[in-house]
Amino acid sequence: MSDNTFQASPIALAAPLPRRSRQARVVWRNNVVTVGGDAPVRVQSMTNTDTVDAVETAIQVRQLAQAGSEMVRITVNTPEAAAAVPYIREQLDRMGEYVPLVGDFHYNGHRLLTDYPVCAEALSKYRINPGNVGKGEKKDKQFGQMIEIAAKYDKAVRIGVNWGSLDQEIMAELMDANSRRAQPWETRQVMYEALITSAITSAELAQSIGLNPDNIILSCKVSGVQDLIAVYRELARRCDYALHLGLTEAGMGTKGTVASTAALAVLLQEGIGDTIRVSLTPQPGEARTQEVVVASEILQSLGLRVFVPSVTACPGCGRTTSTTFQELAKQIDDYLRGQMPVWRMKYPGVEAMKVAVMGCIVNGPGESKHADIGISLPGNGEAPAAPVFIDGEKAMTLRGEGIAQEFQGIVESYVQRRWGAGA
Ligand code: SF4
Repeated sequence: MSDNTFQASPIALAAPLPRRSRQARVVWRNNVVTVGGDAPVRVQSMTNTDTVDAVETAIQVRQLAQAGSEMVRITVNTPEAAAAVPYIREQLDRMGEYVPLVGDFHYNGHRLLTDYPVCAEALSKYRINPGNVGKGEKKDKQFGQMIEIAAKYDKAVRIGVNWGSLDQEIMAELMDANSRRAQPWETRQVMYEALITSAITSAELAQSIGLNPDNIILSCKVSGVQDLIAVYRELARRCDYALHLGLTEAGMGTKGTVASTAALAVLLQEGIGDTIRVSLTPQPGEARTQEVVVASEILQSLGLRVFVPSVTACPGCGRTTSTTFQELAKQIDDYLRGQMPVWRMKYPGVEAMKVAVMGCIVNGPGESKHADIGISLPGNGEAPAAPVFIDGEKAMTLRGEGIAQEFQGIVESYVQRRWGAGA
């Protein structure tokens, strides 16, 4: 290859654009989760337990936190739920789990926060939906009550607009105005405007009542990928509040995962979004923590965060017809994730580890050498041996039935050696 094969200038590197929002602080005890500004994009999740069941809710909050959720939202919908919040907080504190709790309020939040001050204090952030705070004159009054309590306790507030509960008064006003235009907008465009107007005017009202603008986070959730992209681009253009991103009612399984990823990836790459949630409907038997796994993977795939060691695994093909390779790739992936709650504390930096599990000799040794630690399994017709590569060098060859177990042991020793105390 001659020198003039190269172009005059190098191909531009791809990277997410920088973000430019204010920075909010969501705090519980000494756990300060910054959102926006130069903070990493945060992962949030929401429980699906009955908040009144304080024990079950605390257990699920802990599971979500251990999976990597940096804030966990709980429904606060009744006096009994509001009364349970301090007990949930207490149980988490007793377990040493200081993940901030976010209270989700609709319709009666003004009453619950007023009547249960201990609940108001135990929460680190309130989610208020301006479409669900009251009608007519009551709307601003009840919204104001919640904001005053947030300001009093110095809590962050997410003003969370959702097109399923959009403020109908704003929508009606905008539709009327639109009908008088010489060239009316499409209804969808009016709806975008209503979502953004509702969020920003509510934020301005909150500021005028005394809420620190840095403590305001906005969201405008819709369930269509292109709608979400359009709304957030405009929302980010019009304000500098920290933004919470999420495709609402994303759905189940592959559909929900792909739709959320498609929408969030576009926006995050443009520097839009300071905190995310993936609203997956759990499939029967699926853990609630799956939404945290997907959110973390989105951020890790984009190079915005590193949460867990990554496993590079080939898709398999006609050269690897047995399921051994698939089983091993899954076992290693599950093993690495399962270790992370402990490893995160014990081996700081281990989350950046790269592991390769490959199906045959074609790309196996090459990919394994690029990883920190990799294994190349034998494909059809190859000798029944699995070479293991550590830091780019072939270190050993595994044979027999216990390859998965042996490989896990090798990974564990590698982690201890490289990231353990005194390493
Ligand atoms: S590494 Fe081997 S088994 Fe895996 S996809 Fe490539 S050719 Fe197929």
